[in-house]
Amino acid sequence: MAYVILQHCCNDAACVSACPVDCIHPRPDEPSYATTEMLYIDPEMCINCGSCQVACPVDAILPGGDLGSDEAVFSELNAAFYQNQSQPATYSLSVPDARTRVTGTVRELRVAVVGSGPSGSYAAQELLSRRDVSVRVDMFERLMTPWGLVRFGVAPDHLATKGVAVGFERMTRDPRFRLWLNVEVGRDISPEQLSERYHAVIYAFGAMNARMMGIPGEDLPGSHSATEFVAWYNGHPDYAGREFDLSVPRAVVVGNGNVAVDIARLLLSTPARLAQSDIAPHALEQLSTSRIREVVVVGRRGPADAAFTNGELLGLLSVPELDVAVDPKGFGSNTDPDRALGFAAIQKVARLSELVGRMPSKDRRVVFRFCASPERLLGQHQVSGIRLVRNTLVADGSGVRAVPTDEFDELDCALVIQSVGYQGKPLGSVPFDSARAKILNHHGRVLDPESGEPVTGAYVTGWIKRGPSGVIGTNKQCAKQTVACLVEDFLADGLVKPTAELGDMATQLPAAFDVRAWRAIDQHERSAGKRTGRPRVKLVDRAVLLAVGRQAVAEQHGSVPDNIDAISSVTDEGIRRG
Ligand code: NAP
Repeated sequence: MAYVILQHCCNDAACVSACPVDCIHPRPDEPSYATTEMLYIDPEMCINCGSCQVACPVDAILPGGDLGSDEAVFSELNAAFYQNQSQPATYSLSVPDARTRVTGTVRELRVAVVGSGPSGSYAAQELLSRRDVSVRVDMFERLMTPWGLVRFGVAPDHLATKGVAVGFERMTRDPRFRLWLNVEVGRDISPEQLSERYHAVIYAFGAMNARMMGIPGEDLPGSHSATEFVAWYNGHPDYAGREFDLSVPRAVVVGNGNVAVDIARLLLSTPARLAQSDIAPHALEQLSTSRIREVVVVGRRGPADAAFTNGELLGLLSVPELDVAVDPKGFGSNTDPDRALGFAAIQKVARLSELVGRMPSKDRRVVFRFCASPERLLGQHQVSGIRLVRNTLVADGSGVRAVPTDEFDELDCALVIQSVGYQGKPLGSVPFDSARAKILNHHGRVLDPESGEPVTGAYVTGWIKRGPSGVIGTNKQCAKQTVACLVEDFLADGLVKPTAELGDMATQLPAAFDVRAWRAIDQHERSAGKRTGRPRVKLVDRAVLLAVGRQAVAEQHGSVPDNIDAISSVTDEGIRRG
């Protein structure tokens, strides 16, 4: 039986190059790769060799015969992608790949990567994999833990997706690579200082600011952004102390993306399900006693334009304790104009149609409400409800737009989470496109806003390059493009030789920790997890994280810091809370 790609496909296309018969599409060089929700295996072409399964970094590929009952639907989804499809035309992404091995004496290319999330990590991996240049890579991370969204964005119950970090961990063993934790570029070291030490700087610090709608009432207690809530349940130290009112039966999530689906699922997860995840200890405790039993997910447009993927919808439908229904208001031909739909939209509409008006029989339920926008949040001193305006959809040259009608509905709720996307923020003097909330660039070369010319030695990748869209593996192709430009510029002598030596970073940045600190934190969390039957127990307190890091470094130096007693007690307290 053919192999099948499952829900948590990361799109990094490692399987594509492993497949000897080219039966996995879309490939990165095919136009539809840019917008595809996931990759699919053609069951007619698959020769069952298993190479794709071995190559997949997130265990998202199984032989058809090994699928669980919840996964069988992915066999249909993979096959459906190839029905009535002619083989897509290929085009060339501008990533030169003619790499030759370094020969003779070659100057060493020094690169600083700002941010250790998937985008920066894929960029570093790509640099280290180049055979046409000799490289040194230093990666700077402002927190005490690396891998960014893998830890703080991916939902805690999507453990397989976090498997991409295995490759990133492997990179830390490469002698040409150094990871510097607890260093904030712009505060501890400036972009200009980096430029003195490196031929090039790759900005990869993501887009972690919340987008808000700016509606009346959104400043009331009980109104939150997805950024806050996701960072809270994932144990981001800056958000660990936030509070959410979980004492009421209904919450509303505004927005129709995968983050909204993650939030709805997490809000309604049973304590047993949560305990199997790597959710932060404080969130585990509070969500386990939550009284929320219904989450209404509000999308301004219709089901065909829902931003969540089929994979995530199918994942939600497979949670045994959950009912999923679609509110008939806002669903159907009276709101959605006739038009030709693509593969993913057809699949989504078909699945959602089966859920319209479904009568819930379980204690916990998600209700999708389409074609509605929040007009205001209600309440005097705290959110007590949300007023929605019904939308009609209008198709024009630029797509399908939601247009408000004069019909309104009100829902009681005390918790509203706006999940309407993220946005980037500027860093120092690095040219920033405020309208699009990302760094001004062309294919990853940072551009000078006045001349429109590339800024020598400045590059960008990930969400801060292209905006907050795409799954984890999308960043791999994005990083390849940026690194290709960077290496091309280096080989053409287009970069300025560093004027300062790299020297001892620990002296230059006394608060910095190297990868040993992270290994100690990682070990610490996994051990605590083992004791409680969980994948890990995250440390969320900055002081505790610093203490564990310091202790690790001190032990490796064979000396114990003066404040070891204080450190130990802080650490023990951190573990107890875990
Ligand atoms: P997203 O996919 O861009 O979705 C944002 C949603 O907010 C859309 O439904 C959008 O509606 C809606 N929205 C925007 N402005 C609005 C407004 N003023 N009023 C009402 N609705 C508004 O963003 P996301 O969910 O934050 O996800 C970010 C990226 O991470 C996505 O690429 C996502 O796929 C990825 N991600 C993936 C996973 C996974 O693979 N499991 C999990 C989480 C996130 P319109 O479409 O009408 O603009």
